[in-house]
Amino acid sequence: MRIKADVVKCQGYGNCVGVDAKHFDLDDDGLVVVLDEVVDPSEMETVDAAIRSCPVSAIWRAGADA
Ligand code: SF4
Repeated sequence: MRIKADVVKCQGYGNCVGVDAKHFDLDDDGLVVVLDEVVDPSEMETVDAAIRSCPVSAIWRAGADA
């Protein structure tokens, strides 16, 4: 699966980075950056926790097994 992000929705809370700093970071404007869009199945649980942590639903799963 892949991770998608909407920087228009993102409010820069940084929750996702706190949960999963391997896949998420904030840019100089304080908005989410997906560091590694392709997620290994073994990392899905952590990515899902990061997705759930976002209060504005600015990150989500996409792809065949999403
Ligand atoms: S938790 Fe959501 S709003 Fe906060 S930085 Fe991540 S994507 Fe943006």
